[in-house]
Amino acid sequence: MRPGLALLALLPGAAGAAHLTVQITDPGDRAHLRSVQAAWRSAERDLRALGLHVPDVTLVSVSSAAEFARQTGEPWFVAATTRGHTIRTQRLGALAARGTLPLTVRHEAFHTAQPASLPRWLAEGLARLFSGEAALDPGGATGLEVLTDERLGQRLAARQAGDLLPAYREATRRARERVRAQGWARALGVK
Ligand SMILES: [Zn+2]
Repeated sequence: MRPGLALLALLPGAAGAAHLTVQITDPGDRAHLRSVQAAWRSAERDLRALGLHVPDVTLVSVSSAAEFARQTGEPWFVAATTRGHTIRTQRLGALAARGTLPLTVRHEAFHTAQPASLPRWLAEGLARLFSGEAALDPGGATGLEVLTDERLGQRLAARQAGDLLPAYREATRRARERVRAQGWARALGVK
């Protein structure tokens, strides 16, 4: 982070709501704080309705794709990543330009609140269902239907560029089936 450019914004939530602290590096990201706030509030409300506890979270928006890769070890095309109670994202302006800022906030909010026991494929599939990203997936086969859940989890963990999107789609397809059959509470293991 370049010194002097870090700005902190504590987004006020409803009484008793989890706090989201946003740290931006690019001053241009300030324009997107309202959008982050709105997405966070609605995600928090919806996560609580699913019986999940949302902790206080810090969202750090980094200065560039290269810096994101350096700080997280993730490939440049990944939008964001959550470790514990810290979400690291690409520049908010870059996500907004792609039209994915609210979806990304919702996806990562899910990860901050999800039960730790969820296997990776299910956590990613449920995060994409919850965020609304799933609705943007093209229909049809993913080509990964024959993989075991375990192999699918390994595919997601390997973070290979060409493999990742089909693996996310397949995880989402399986998660959707599970929610359809069992409902959210049982799919999450909170009931
Ligand atoms: Zn995820």
